Amino acid sequence: MSESSAEPIVVIVSGPGGVGKGTVVSLLVERYDDLWLSRSWTTRERREGESEDAYVFVSRAAFEDRIDAGGFVEWAEFLGNYYGTPTPDAPDGKDLIYEIDVQGARQVKAIDPDALLIFLHAPSAAEQEARLRRRGDPEEKVQQRLDKAREETNAGMELGAHSIVNDDLETTVREIRAAIENHRR
Ligand code: 5GP
Repeated sequence: MSESSAEPIVVIVSGPGGVGKGTVVSLLVERYDDLWLSRSWTTRERREGESEDAYVFVSRAAFEDRIDAGGFVEWAEFLGNYYGTPTPDAPDGKDLIYEIDVQGARQVKAIDPDALLIFLHAPSAAEQEARLRRRGDPEEKVQQRLDKAREETNAGMELGAHSIVNDDLETTVREIRAAIENHRR
């Protein structure tokens, strides 16, 4: 299933909250063993029912210590919490996947212009809102995330991302795989 390549590539999966980035990247790494998912750090509280390894959940002090030590490829503050991509330690030969917001995507592209940027869109605004509500965030947070989502979609387009409407999970995963193979060539 895997294609051999000399240089590992960096794949950034970005897009606003509620587009299903997490589900898409989980399936990608489960299916293709030449992909390695970088686990982000956050100071956000773990949501009820959220997997313990969704992030490395840390205090603000621990996060700030790691910033000072130069231990992040990029980091950003999003709605009052820090999120960051630690310096990767991917096994040899694996391509790296980062699931990050648009601010992070911009930073990674600035350091690594060859990174492949995939930007996911929700099939509709109503579906995106429904997905955000299903996560059980308080109403105020849902509204903040929806406002943020509008800004982020515009910013993502300016970065020249490969756009995919995440309507059907299987189709999205296949499209991303094809984009990675194309990029490699
Ligand atoms: P959530 O709180 O919903 O898990 O994530 C909020 C936002 O932060 C999402 O858009 C998510 O993709 C983004 N995010 C997750 N990890 C990182 C990271 O390491 N760096 C940056 N810049 N954003 C991240």
